Order: sequence, then C-alpha cells, then structure tokens
Amino acid sequence: MTFERTGSRHDLAARRARVARVIRLAPSVVRVTFAGDELADLPAEGPEDHVKVFFPDPATGELHAPRTVDGTLQRPTSGVSVSRDYTPRALRATADGTELDLELVLHGVDDGAPAGPASSWAASAEVGDELVVAGPRGSRGVPAGIDRLVLVADETAMPAAARWIEQAPTGVAVTVILDLADEKADAYVDAPAPDGGPSPFARASVERLYRIDGPGQVAEAVRSLDVGATTFVWAAGEATTLIPVRRYLRHELGLPHDQVKVDGYWKRGVTNRDHHEPLDPTDPD
Ligand SMILES: Cc1cc2nc3c(=O)[nH]c(=O)nc-3n(C[C@H](O)[C@H](O)[C@H](O)COP(=O)(O)OP(=O)(O)OC[C@H]3O[C@@H](n4cnc5c(N)ncnc54)[C@H](O)[C@@H]3O)c2cc1C
Repeated sequence: MTFERTGSRHDLAARRARVARVIRLAPSVVRVTFAGDELADLPAEGPEDHVKVFFPDPATGELHAPRTVDGTLQRPTSGVSVSRDYTPRALRATADGTELDLELVLHGVDDGAPAGPASSWAASAEVGDELVVAGPRGSRGVPAGIDRLVLVADETAMPAAARWIEQAPTGVAVTVILDLADEKADAYVDAPAPDGGPSPFARASVERLYRIDGPGQVAEAVRSLDVGATTFVWAAGEATTLIPVRRYLRHELGLPHDQVKVDGYWKRGVTNRDHHEPLDPTDPD
C-alpha cells in the first residue's frame, strides 16, 4: 500500500494577534486563545500543520517579527527575532472575528529544566499581549486508505496528536502512546477540546507513560504494538527519546518512509532545535 496524503502549499504570511484568553489545562500546559483580524485567512487544515510564533526578546521585551507587505514577507530590519514552532490547535470564527488556540508547554516551571523564551512568555501570558504568527507553509492530510493510526506524543506533540484523532476518518482505529512528565499531566489528556466537547483522546486507545518512572518506556511500548501493513505511525516529541522508536520502525520492522513520520519537536539541552534536521544524524532519511 502507498500512504498517499493530500497536500497544499500556502503563501507565507505573518499575522499579528492579541491574547484573548489564557486557560491552565494542567500545571505545565496553557491554552492561549488569540484574536485578531489578521487571523481570518490562516490556513490550518492538516493535523501536523505548524506556525512560527514570534515572541518578545526576553532581554528587551520588544517584539521583532516579520510583516506581510503587499503579499510579501518582510523580515525585521533591527532587533533580535525570537521564534519557535507551535501547532495551531484550533481555529474558529466567532461573532467578533477569528480565534486561534495554541497549547504551550511550560517547561522549567516545575521540572527544574531551563525555560526558553516561549515557555517563559506562556507562563505569564496575559490578555492583550501581542505576538506574531507566521505560516503554516503547508498542510498534509491523514493518509488515505489506512485502517489504523498509531500516535506517539509527549506534551508538546499532544496538540498535533489531538488533531490527528479529530481528523482520522470513522473506522480508523487510533492507538496513542503518551510520554508524559508525571501524573499531573493527566489533566491535559483529559481536558475538554477547544470547542468544549470531550477530550479527543477519549476516542482512542491510550497508553499513558510517565517519564518520572524512568527512560526507555516509549520505545518499549512501541515495540509491543502490532503494526500492520495498513497502519500509519506518527511520532513527535523529544528527539533523543524518539531515535530508538524510529530505528525500530524503519530498520527492524522495515516500514517504508511514507508509512512512518518521526519528528523531533525539541531536544534536551538544545535551544530552538530545527526539526528539519535529521532526528538521527548517524542515519538521516
Ligand atoms: C512542528 C512543531 C510543532 C510544535 N508544536 C508545539 C505545541 O503545539 N506546543 C508546545 O508546547 N510545543 C510545541 N513544539 C515544541 C516547541 O517548539 C519547543 O519545545 C521549543 O523549544 C520551546 O521553546 P522555548 O523557547 O520554550 O525553549 P528553547 O529556547 O527552544 O529551549 C530552552 C531549553 O529548554 C529545553 N526545552 C524545550 N522544550 C522543552 C520541553 N517541552 N520540555 C522540557 N525542556 C524543553 C531545551 O532543550 C533547552 O534546553 C513544536 C515543535 C515543532 C517542531
């Protein structure tokens, strides 16, 4: 079987938006709702679409971000631009315009790890704060013809995993392996969807693993799955954690490139990791 995915490219645009609401979904995750006229035509169709969010420079508090002028993206000519990748969790039209939800992990808040500018901004986000969102560059749909979807996600990849579940056609069985810091993150898994409906994870068969219980559990859990010829596997989260997952799927099981997507959303000890870099530098795709 070939795992064909519909795809579309989007003109790159930068959109200003203001914080309209902040909800704490779990001790280490906030859902920030943005509003603004410029969000109206933001395309966010695919489950793993992502945007570059421009945050204020922590040193000065100033926001230096691109602007769209006459359909062209213009980079800032001064200052330090600080941007990170995030998943548009939900986009909706309201009586007042368009709203965009992002769900941001507050790392460093209670795990002792160094917090980056995005996490620090999110920890103190307030109504009225302004940011710029650029992208997404493109969208890809759920592969056609699959009968099972396996999702492997840590907290940073849960917005995308939730979108995969929401977009999986009825009849596609969804199995999720969640790599969570500890049981406090359960509140995030169980939180209502942005539209107030039940958590999308309620529709899936979910295994919760807790990093506090030790390393290596994610790869072990993936090894215990029965991955069939019509199963698509998507995994995202901490890059080093996912290397053995990818090795198992691609090399031990021999799954073809288009049946597996493993994306290193962040890497322990690395600031602003570029997720286009090979997950496993010794074995690039
Ligand atoms: C396509 C894509 C989509 C993404 N979607 C989301 C999303 O929807 N929600 C979300 O929260 N994140 C998402 N991420 C991950 C997010 O971009 C990174 O976690 C990012 O590094 C956070 O920026 P920062 O400024 O807080 O930290 P950085 O300045 O990048 O890093 C500072 C330090 O913090 C560490 N660090 C970074 N992230 C974490 C973490 N989660 N836990 C513990 N330590 C960490 C780094 O290793 C580094 O040591 C996505 C990433 C990609 C590539």
